[in-house]
Amino acid sequence: MKNQVKILLVGLVLGLVSCEKSGPLDSDQANLSASLAAIQQKVSSLPLENLEEAEKERILFIREEEKLAYDVYNTMFDKYGVNIFQNIPTSELSHMEAMLTIIKKYNLVDPMDTSPRGVFNDASLQTLYTSLVTQGNTSVLAAYQVGALIEELDIHDLNSSLALTNNQDVRFVYDFLNKGSRNHLRSFYKNITKAGGSYTPIHITQAEFDAIVNSPTEKM
Ligand code: MN
Ligand code: MN
Repeated sequence: MKNQVKILLVGLVLGLVSCEKSGPLDSDQANLSASLAAIQQKVSSLPLENLEEAEKERILFIREEEKLAYDVYNTMFDKYGVNIFQNIPTSELSHMEAMLTIIKKYNLVDPMDTSPRGVFNDASLQTLYTSLVTQGNTSVLAAYQVGALIEELDIHDLNSSLALTNNQDVRFVYDFLNKGSRNHLRSFYKNITKAGGSYTPIHITQAEFDAIVNSPTEKM
């Protein structure tokens, strides 16, 4: 599975390079392979520091939570075939790979090494996957709202994970994922409003949500 994911990542990045001119989102993603390589280099350049048990658990959880986003968006792409669910999973794959660099550096056991789509080691993520796919299957607007929910959950969980660790390498990767999530939240919210819908955050405050969706896309 690890190798399949890598082949898929390379394939997606190559595919996206060829359609670089088609929109701002695509050109962002064309930069993903370069940014992932930069992240791997940065992680290996930073010191190996002590990790508490709670920090290790968060690292493994965030790795699987990124897979939740990746799996749900791919399932929504299969159902609706809309661009956003093809573009954003490429970024989620780079987030999963960035977490893997931390897992490898600290010799942790990857919880999702051989898990197929929709299968999770963490019971809460397993339940969440089923409920989000059920919700997203009702309409394309509901699927965009599921996207916003996943992203604000990611932002909430990344912020609480950042509060748990002082390790420079782990913080660097969490910051990278967090920036990606803020951009994804902006994209999903744009699609929600275009489709005539609305969104009320449940994992972050309305003020935090407004500050993100009313600010410009961040460069990765
Ligand atoms: Mn992500
Ligand atoms: Mn995301």
